[in-house]
Amino acid sequence: MAAPSSLLKVEEIQGRGRGMVASQPLKAGQSVLRDSPILQYSALPLIRQSLSSSSSASASCFCDHCFKTLPPLQGDSSSCTVLCPNCCHHYFCSSKCLSKALNNSHSSWVCQALSHLRANSLLLEQPLERQVQANFLIAAYNLANFSPSDFQIMLSLQGSPEESTIAAAQFLHPLISPRNEFSLELTSALLANDKLNAFGIMQSFSEHDDQRSVRAYGIYPYASFLTMIAFPMPADLITLTLIHLMTAIILTLLFG
Ligand SMILES: [Zn+2]
Ligand SMILES: [Zn+2]
Repeated sequence: MAAPSSLLKVEEIQGRGRGMVASQPLKAGQSVLRDSPILQYSALPLIRQSLSSSSSASASCFCDHCFKTLPPLQGDSSSCTVLCPNCCHHYFCSSKCLSKALNNSHSSWVCQALSHLRANSLLLEQPLERQVQANFLIAAYNLANFSPSDFQIMLSLQGSPEESTIAAAQFLHPLISPRNEFSLELTSALLANDKLNAFGIMQSFSEHDDQRSVRAYGIYPYASFLTMIAFPMPADLITLTLIHLMTAIILTLLFG
């Protein structure tokens, strides 16, 4: 991986794998890294029965491409929100976002794979986390098709399969893998990398809802180095920055 900025370089750190180190003294308040996600996927369960039947009207809904919060769906004819015309299940904030999604993040393969999984009753017997892992795997396999170089970057991130990721892979792999193009081992490795490297993209703060939860996850390849190796990461900083930027992390060194 090339260095993301002149201030940082990627180095092999003895006994700890690759890491990013400063290539020159850094000042407090200095922006040292701007990183964009190579992959984003929804943190909401695939089967949203519990959300749609919830009596709480505050159940949030997000654009399935850019993850912006969508306006309330009922009684708002001026809303630009559109549904995927094929599965009629995934919402997008505008026809522009839908069209971008259909050509990438919600390609016809993704649309079919998600629909196929939603119809599988075995998924409901699994822990809820399995549905979010399914979102990730489908997004990752799709990335392999649309951007093989980004897929390789994701595979190169740290992570080693453990019992829980292997169990998830064993369940999800036969349901998702297109024409067995990807091995079970690759599926396990992907899930392990996701577990260690994904950043949560939080819901916006609201005075009426003090339980902010994650709306989506993103794989930010350079930022993942910082959280693992460089220094105790002020996790809120990443989170707060993400609320405003959505598609980029700007890490600012707050201590000099
Ligand atoms: Zn959107
Ligand atoms: Zn669809």
